[in-house]
Amino acid sequence: FFREDFTARSASVRVRFGAGIRAAVSEEMDNLGVSRALILTTPQQSDMADEFANYCGAKAVGRFTGAAMHTPVDVSEQATDLARRLGADVLISVGGGSTTGLGKAIALRTDLPQIVVPTTYAGSEATGILGQTENGVKTTLTSAKVQPEVILYDAELVATLPLSMTVTSALNAMAHAAEGLYARDRSPISSLMAVEGLRAFRDSLPKVLADPGNLTARGETLYGAWLCGTVLGQVGMALHHKLCHTLGGSFDLPHAETHAIILPHAIAFNASAVPDLLAPLADLFGTSSGFGAGTGLWQFAKSAGAPLSLRDLGLVEADLDRATDLATANPYWNPRPVTKDGIRRLLQAAWAGDRPD
Ligand code: NAD
Repeated sequence: FFREDFTARSASVRVRFGAGIRAAVSEEMDNLGVSRALILTTPQQSDMADEFANYCGAKAVGRFTGAAMHTPVDVSEQATDLARRLGADVLISVGGGSTTGLGKAIALRTDLPQIVVPTTYAGSEATGILGQTENGVKTTLTSAKVQPEVILYDAELVATLPLSMTVTSALNAMAHAAEGLYARDRSPISSLMAVEGLRAFRDSLPKVLADPGNLTARGETLYGAWLCGTVLGQVGMALHHKLCHTLGGSFDLPHAETHAIILPHAIAFNASAVPDLLAPLADLFGTSSGFGAGTGLWQFAKSAGAPLSLRDLGLVEADLDRATDLATANPYWNPRPVTKDGIRRLLQAAWAGDRPD
């Protein structure tokens, strides 16, 4: 992974792993020198807010259980008001990317520190990136203010993640690492993390599917999520993330499922331009069975029971032309030139659920 010229950057984050490590949240508050926690969850995970209030005891000053998909600005402002009214000095986000997004949105407005306890593999906890929506428009920003200070990866919390979400969320995480391998601003360290993150999912996901409560295997999936999320925080993404952003934003397709379906196609598209950079991915998923990087990923996703076609998410074939126009409207960097024809063909295959070439 050596390059002659590179710039490496990394955030200052404290990360702890372990089944049951969530109970250390109070100790982590002490380490940060804070004593007034606002606990954040989605409505579906409000029981986690109760559990964390118990761990924090008198140091829990409030809870906000209204985290929502795509981090709507009005919800963030409501939660920020609450944080200010309560005099909170730390945010504890327990959940997936939506809850982490809410914590980041409050941190952006208040500069409060964040302790994040992830319950999916999305990886937002490991980045300084925040996506927000206002009036149906999603914008993304990067700021040190939103980078969480502490992450507690607790295998027990993902052990209850339904299997369909386990698979799509894992592929969502793997997409960060896969695109990280050819990022223009990659460093030897980001590439090492990307390959190890992909390897961790390749080895642990089948074990989790065979035995969803296997805490060792669940722990390894979280390890993969951390590595893949860290790559996302360090380097720029390309075609795959652009397509998912377009499909999610303009056609309201679900986040993790869309990533799962698009990933093999985007990687197959780019593999012809950067075969050497994607060789480690091909070696992990394809070479031994005679497949390339994209086809190998498609086989892996299929054998894990992932959704394979955009049609199954409700996208109609007539939308593919508009999706192509939107995804190619603003030029952006990608290792292979993005043409309308190429993207239309890619989307057609992903819509139909065909194996990429
Ligand atoms: P999510 O956070 O929206 O969660 C989906 C649903 O699953 C929610 O109802 C949640 O409460 C529930 N859930 C979460 N964990 C569960 C568990 N263990 N058991 C049962 N239910 C559980 O989904 P996500 O895929 O984690 O996050 C997607 C969002 O995160 C998107 O908005 C995406 O843009 C954002 N994201 C941001 C970054 C970043 O760096 N800024 C990175 C990745 C994802």
